[in-house]
Amino acid sequence: MKVSEILKNNEVTLSFEVFPPKTDASFADVARAAGEIAAMKPHFMSVTYGAGGNTAANTAQLAEQLQKEHDVTVLAHLTCVAASRDDVRRMLTDYRSRGIENIMALRGDIPKDGKRSEDYLYAVDLIRDIREIAGPDTFCIGGACYPEGHVECERQSEDIAHLKEKVEAGCSFLTTQMFFDNNTLYNFLYRIREAGIEVPVLPGIMPITNKKQVARSVALSGATVPQRFRTMVDRYGDDPRKMQQAGVIYAAEQIIDLIANGVNHIHVYSMNKPEIVEGILNSFSAILGR
Ligand code: FAD
Repeated sequence: MKVSEILKNNEVTLSFEVFPPKTDASFADVARAAGEIAAMKPHFMSVTYGAGGNTAANTAQLAEQLQKEHDVTVLAHLTCVAASRDDVRRMLTDYRSRGIENIMALRGDIPKDGKRSEDYLYAVDLIRDIREIAGPDTFCIGGACYPEGHVECERQSEDIAHLKEKVEAGCSFLTTQMFFDNNTLYNFLYRIREAGIEVPVLPGIMPITNKKQVARSVALSGATVPQRFRTMVDRYGDDPRKMQQAGVIYAAEQIIDLIANGVNHIHVYSMNKPEIVEGILNSFSAILGR
């Protein structure tokens, strides 16, 4: 099924992201965890893709496996920062042959060695190419957006203008980077709607369930960390059980506030942890009609 069809639903939907392993050795473990998540029947799942293309085979295999074995709609990511047009053509053929109908089209972070694709500068180029190579309606395409602005772009108005180009090139929906204060999202939604971007925007919620995650993913993303969140990590960060519970509750609180403010479709960064997905889904069981 196309993700755009799922997003036409006026009911609340919860979807979850998983990431494939970089090495084949750990594929079975990741596939098992992702399979447990899929068995909980999220509305759809996304599978990330290494910026340098190093996870290409594992992304495709995991996406296909989840879709075939668990009958869950999958959104497979694809990055272009280090890809040639031939690489993209090959991946599109591969995704298509595996029954993948949805692609999250991304540029990817610029590699440390500075080596860039000669064919693609930005995600918008990839979006145009996917539609040109595969046909305009073969894949439902999603794009990334940044409520606090993308780190490389100094002015948010410019970032939003670039975002509009992506939507006009053929993105049917957008998913946001993590944020920990919902006002950041409401402000962003107001600004992009004012700029004429009308596609569905899925807030990306990251449940923080261990202290290291704050230093790693949160610091890398550049997301602002509110004081109450900091205090929570200070208080429970050294006790894994308490930190996990606090992190799931914080994320659930963000989600219920989004729902109360009319946001229906929410994407959760699962970090490949079924217990986090279970905690979130249990918090919304009646709302989801389960
Ligand atoms: P773009 O949309 O190309 O934007 C990148 C920068 O270029 C922005 O600052 C933008 O303002 C600027 N820009 C865009 N167009 C123009 C233009 N025409 N002229 C000048 N400047 C321009 N990374 C991975 O490697 N794998 C993943 O699976 C992955 N999944 C992600 C999922 C989500 C929901 C999000 C939010 C991010 C994800 N990322 C992933 C990270 C992402 O690849 C990086 O944030 C990357 O730096 C930007 O990718 P983008 O697609 O947003 O790029």
